[in-house]
Formats: sequence, structure tokens, C-alpha cells
Amino acid sequence: MDHPPPPPPTDGRRPTRRAAKRTNYDESVFDALLHDHLGGSRPPRRRNRTAEERQRETETEAMIALSLGFPIDALLDAEAAAGVVHPPGDAAARNDYIVVRNHILARWRANVRSYLSKSEIKETVSRQYDHLISSAYDFLLEHGYINFGVSPAVRAQFLDEHDKGSVIIVGAGLAGLAAARQLLSFGFKVLVLEGRDRPGGRVYTTKMGKQGNFASVDLGGSVITGIHANPLGVLARQLGIPLHKIRDYCPLFRPDGGHVDRSLDVEVDLVFNKLLENAARVREVLGESADGISLGSAIERLQLLYGVARKTEERELLDWHLANLEYANAGCLSDLSLAHWDQDDPYEMGGDHCFLAGGNWRLINALCEDVPVLYKKMVTRIAYGGGFVEVVVAGGQVFQADMVLCSVPLGVLKSGTIKFDPELPAQKLQAIQRLGFGLLNKVAMIFPYVFWGEEIDTFGCLSKDRSKRGEFFLFYGYHTVSGGAVLIALVAGEAALNFEHSDPVASLHSVLGILRGIYGPKGVFVPDPIQTMCTRWGSDPLCCGSYSHVRVGSSGSDYNILAENVGGRLFFAGEATNREHPATMHGAFLSGLREASCILQTWRKNFMGKSDSKKLSQKNLRSYSEVLADLFKEPDLAFGVFSFVFDPSEAEDPKALGLMRVTFGNYSSRKELDEHRQSSEPPLQEFYLYALISREQAHQMKMVSDNDKGRLELLCKKFGIKLMGYTDTCALGSSLIISISGARRGRNRKLQTMHQKIWS
Ligand SMILES: Cc1cc2nc3c(=O)[nH]c(=O)nc-3n(C[C@H](O)[C@H](O)[C@H](O)COP(=O)(O)OP(=O)(O)OC[C@H]3O[C@@H](n4cnc5c(N)ncnc54)[C@H](O)[C@@H]3O)c2cc1C
Repeated sequence: MDHPPPPPPTDGRRPTRRAAKRTNYDESVFDALLHDHLGGSRPPRRRNRTAEERQRETETEAMIALSLGFPIDALLDAEAAAGVVHPPGDAAARNDYIVVRNHILARWRANVRSYLSKSEIKETVSRQYDHLISSAYDFLLEHGYINFGVSPAVRAQFLDEHDKGSVIIVGAGLAGLAAARQLLSFGFKVLVLEGRDRPGGRVYTTKMGKQGNFASVDLGGSVITGIHANPLGVLARQLGIPLHKIRDYCPLFRPDGGHVDRSLDVEVDLVFNKLLENAARVREVLGESADGISLGSAIERLQLLYGVARKTEERELLDWHLANLEYANAGCLSDLSLAHWDQDDPYEMGGDHCFLAGGNWRLINALCEDVPVLYKKMVTRIAYGGGFVEVVVAGGQVFQADMVLCSVPLGVLKSGTIKFDPELPAQKLQAIQRLGFGLLNKVAMIFPYVFWGEEIDTFGCLSKDRSKRGEFFLFYGYHTVSGGAVLIALVAGEAALNFEHSDPVASLHSVLGILRGIYGPKGVFVPDPIQTMCTRWGSDPLCCGSYSHVRVGSSGSDYNILAENVGGRLFFAGEATNREHPATMHGAFLSGLREASCILQTWRKNFMGKSDSKKLSQKNLRSYSEVLADLFKEPDLAFGVFSFVFDPSEAEDPKALGLMRVTFGNYSSRKELDEHRQSSEPPLQEFYLYALISREQAHQMKMVSDNDKGRLELLCKKFGIKLMGYTDTCALGSSLIISISGARRGRNRKLQTMHQKIWS
């Protein structure tokens, strides 16, 4: 085939454009260095190294730290605020601290599956620096720079004893789950309330294809944008999941299906980058007045001024680049702030853009493990003004905790479906209103085979119609990672808004028309897809859009305002709270780590000194356990290995939650278990797991099957309910345990009174 030479790379969510880099190292040297170091092929550290070897090692570790966002010769603001160096002005102590901190970072990054302990560090650093090891290690651990993620070694550090406060997390997306895991490892009691019947939020991998031959398709967040220092890369390595580097080759096709001429392509690419450069100059000249101008209007004026891209094909090509820019920002250029749209450029992650083999659900799945999540709990109200927080879900159920972390998307905050009591501070409300939350939609198709070329990960298609420049302008082939011939067409900008209301059949017809227009004339037959799916992220009430951008009138500091906690009780996480990495999966994850750390600091400051909460919570747990055992002496419902207790005062409400206990042990049936309990033989080895479950679900379990396996399947697969150990049950179900037991006491008192009345 006569492919034209490759056009400029468009290898991920970010289009090719000049980015002001904070870093000044040679990326290719750095790539090799990181590859060696992060690939786990690091040679063991010898004790008797020469001074030169030590120096080289220190430099390498400094580079690793730099890639993770640490300045090369200074402290992070957060480190300075945490007082990691004593006395603060001591330059020598600060330099020693930086070397020790870089060493710890590099040590863990070399083997992220391990849990790095302080004593391991002490083996390789001289004793005279013990105090620095402690301060650097504690800082890095508590701020989520080391020992985070999903490896069994990290999981083993989840504390069984929840000696800190309790936190409710609203939303089981990347931000909420990252925070939940960190908080559990710090010793908090955690409960995640999720409105959907699945975790992951805007990371949503679905199965497409035929029974027995499914492919995994990411309908939301998909590309890991820059693998260096990316926490999602850490998760992938912990799980041993391969990553596929998205190849640079991205052919572009004209609306008539022909290849875009290479020299024209290079020319227009240059024009596009010049327009952006000039737009940046214009904003410098305008200063604050640029705040009210959109990037779109600046580009249009510059285009007119310089008289560029006037011929039809040039204009179509330039429009393609502009659509790509709208994709990267999930917003129309006419909405983006000229002054601040690219404020996050300096923080872009380096390295390749990648797909995760098998889809991003694999990360979500691992993050959910051992995290207590209640699904289908749509939060409608968060009251945070008193001595504790109260979170109310649709249907009226109330959950209480010391603190709440709200990780819902900006679109949900804008929609006002969650009422905050008291109302959020005016500053936060204004930032919510100012920041933009735009749209990106996808048409996912699975075909019987790959017809677009095994070697191609992306290709683009120009549009004749300006207002439709974002409609199916870019295609991603997922055949290398999804397990099937999956192709996804993107819909960005204005087209994404219209797509929300379009007829899926007509959309599919258009996409196939484009594909057949490109491949038909080349003699390549385009088959009908086996299955197609269209997203409607804007109409989804649990996100109301795709991701955030800096809209006209807004700025990067609005992300910071969104991240601020209110009164040390109400915290916020999510991609739209991350100024450095907004609109990304890794940004969401990092915001969760950040807030976990913030909650820990706040708890220490506001709660720890005031009451002996450790003792308090242990006492509570012990007394809950006694109450729990008592409750199940008289279950309201029992079959197979399952027993249930419910609040008698809510007998009319089939959705009211109760507690279920599952007994595991060395017996084959409930009858055998009951008989054995009544016999004088020594007790059978039994243990219990628990779950929160509604009356309705309990009755469905009873009806579904007469064997426990079938019932467990219904419980786990259909209801998505996870069983919990005793500690989590006491921690999470405490208010339920108390209310059922209180209501039972009330009922018994009433019965007693009636009994007395009858017999007196
Ligand atoms: C189409 C699309 C493509 C994308 N492509 C990329 C990409 O290639 N690379 C990349 O890095 N990023 C991409 N992103 C962005 C990325 O997916 C998000 O930034 C990230 O997943 C956001 O995570 P989060 O935890 O902040 O929010 P979410 O994932 O949205 O999690 C919030 C959770 O809160 C829940 N919730 C909302 N309201 C309530 C309520 N009232 N009560 C209870 N629960 C509630 C939601 O159901 C959700 O589970 C894409 C996003 C979309 C939509």
C-alpha cells in the first residue's frame, strides 16, 4: 500500500503543541534511566561503593525525585509546611534531607510491589541520619509517595484496628477509591457510598462481542497519558499488567477518503502551532484583559489576521487540529480561557502514552478489594455543621461519621443535586460555577476482524463541515489490548453536545460511511460491526459531562478552591480538584491520595488531642461485638448458612437495611449445624462474615435457590454486596447495630408491658 510518510504524531489525549516544560533534562536519556530503574532491573546496592559510585547514585535518585515532581534542590511547599527539617533555615540539614528523601523515593519506585519499611532504609543510610530518615519517610508515606497501591504487601498494612476517626467517602471513582485505601492503611474507619451499581465512575470498561469471546472496551477514561511517574503505571506494575505504548503513526484522511497530502499536513501543523504560539503572545500583551477572552475567538482572529488556511483542504486540516484540541480539553474552543486554558502544561507526565491490556477496570477492580463500598446509594444531602457529619442517600437512609470526602464529578456539583448543609462557602460555589465541565463522547464498535491495519493505533478523518469538525474525527484501534477487533470513534467539541441527542442508528451509519469512504477505494472491505455502543456522558446524572477545563473567566486557582476542605469535616477530591493534573485518571487518583493525607493531618490536629478516640473506638467496637452476637441469637430470618436481623421499627420498608451473617464451618447443612449446636459435642470450628442487606434482597435470596452456592452468587454477582469481617462490620454498621438493638429493646418492653397488662 502506498502509505504517505507519517504525519506529525498525535499520540494521546494531548495534541501536538508547544508545552512550557518545568524540567530541563534530556528526555531520551531520562527515559533510558527510568526504564532501567523502574523496570526493576536495578542492581543490588553494594555496601562498599566508591565515592564516585555513590555520587552517581545520588544523582540518579535526584532525577527520579525530579520526575515525581520534587524540585532538585529545594523542599516541596508541603514538606516545608510539615517541618521536615530542623531548624528550618539550616541549609546543610535541608540538603541532607533531600538526599535521604530522594533515596527513599527511588528505593520504593525500584520495587513498587514491596512495602518499604523504615528499618530497610536504615540498613543503607548511615545512623547519623536516623532523624532525617524518620521525617522523610513519614512525610512520603503520609502524602502517598511511597507504599501506596494494590500489591499484597501494601494491602497487608491495612490496619485491622481502626484507631482513627470514621470517614464516609461519596463516590467510588479513582479519587474515592485511592483515598479509601490510604485511609484504611492509616487506620480510619471508611465507608464508600456510590450512586451507581458499579465502581469506577468515569472509568468504565464494558464487554463487547460474542459470548465466550468478549473484548474489553473502555467507554470512559482510557489512555494513560505519560507513563513516567504516573501512579497508574505503579498500579499496573504492582498487578503485572502489561502496557501498550500507543504508536506515533496516525494517518489522516480527507472527507473523500483520500490520504492527506504530506507536505500540506506538515505545513498546516506548523500553522496550527504558530497560531497557538501567537495566541500565547496575545495573552501576554493583554495581561488581565485576556481573562475575558476565549481561546477560540483569539485563534479565529489570528487566522483572519494572517490569512492562513484559506483553501478548503487547509481549512479542513486546521479544523482537525482544533477538534483535537477540543478533545484534549473536553470543551469547545469558544469556551476555553485564552489566559489559562493550558495552565497545567508544566506538570504534564513525561514518557509514552499507553493503553492498559484488558482495560482500566482491572485497576478499579484491584482498588476496590477490601474497601467497603455500598452501591446504589445516591447521596442527596451532606450535613457537616455539627460535631459529626451526616450523609443522606435517596430513600432517606442516613450515615454518620467524623468526616466526609466528596469525590463526585464537577458536573454533579454544578447540577446541585447534592444539598450541603450549611451551604458551601460562596468562594467555592463561585469556583464550581466558573470552571468548565465539557463533553467527549465515543462510538465503540467491535468488528469480526481488524481491517484498518494491525500496525495502526490511531487514524484521523477531516470533516467538510466546521460545526461537525469533532464528529468521528479520531479513531482509536484497541485490537492490541482489548482481546478483539475494537475501534472507537471520538466525538468532541460542539459535535459531542449534539451527539447526546442523536439517533445511535444514524450515528453508526455515519461512522460506517466514513470508514467505507476511507477503506473501500483501497480495496479493503469494511464489515458490519458485531456490536456497537454510543456513550452519553452528558446525560448521565452521576457525572453530567466528561471532564473539567478552564473556562473563560476561570483560572487554575479555581481547582485549588475546589480542593479546599470546609471546616475540617467536609473534604473534596476528584479530577476537578487537581490543578496540576486535571481532567485525567491519574489526576483523580492523586487527588484521593492528597485528601487522605489531609484528612489524617486534620484528624491529628482537631480530634486526637480532644478525646482519647483510640480507646473510645476500641471500646465501641468491643461493645458492638457483644450486641452483634446477641442480635443473631434471635435472627428475624434464617436459611442455609444465612441469618438476618432487621430493625423492627422499619418493618414496612422493604428497602430498609439490616444485617446478614454468613456462617462458614465444617458442616454440610443448616440442619447439621443446628443439631450440632444442641448436642453436647465440642463446638464446630465456625467463623462469620457479615454484610448490610435490605429485607427485599434477603427475601430474594431465600426464593432464588435452595442451595447456598446459588444464594451467594446472587449476593455477590447480582447485588454486588461484599462480605465483611467482624471489625469492618462493627465499624461500618455501628449505627445500624445500635438502632436494631434499640428498636428490639423497645419492642420487647412493649411486649412485656402488654404481657403484664394481660396478666395483672
Ligand atoms: C469519555 C471520557 C474519556 C476520557 N479519557 C481519558 C483518558 O484517555 N485519559 C485520562 O487520563 N482521563 C480520561 N478521562 C478522564 C478520567 O476518566 C477522569 O478524570 C477520572 O476518571 C475521574 O475520576 P474521579 O474519581 O474524579 O471521578 P468519577 O470517576 O466520576 O467518580 C465519581 C463517582 O461519584 C459517583 N457519584 C456521583 N454523584 C453521586 C452521588 N450523588 N451519590 C453517590 N455517588 C455519586 C459517580 O457515580 C462516580 O462513581 C476521560 C473521561 C471520559 C468521560
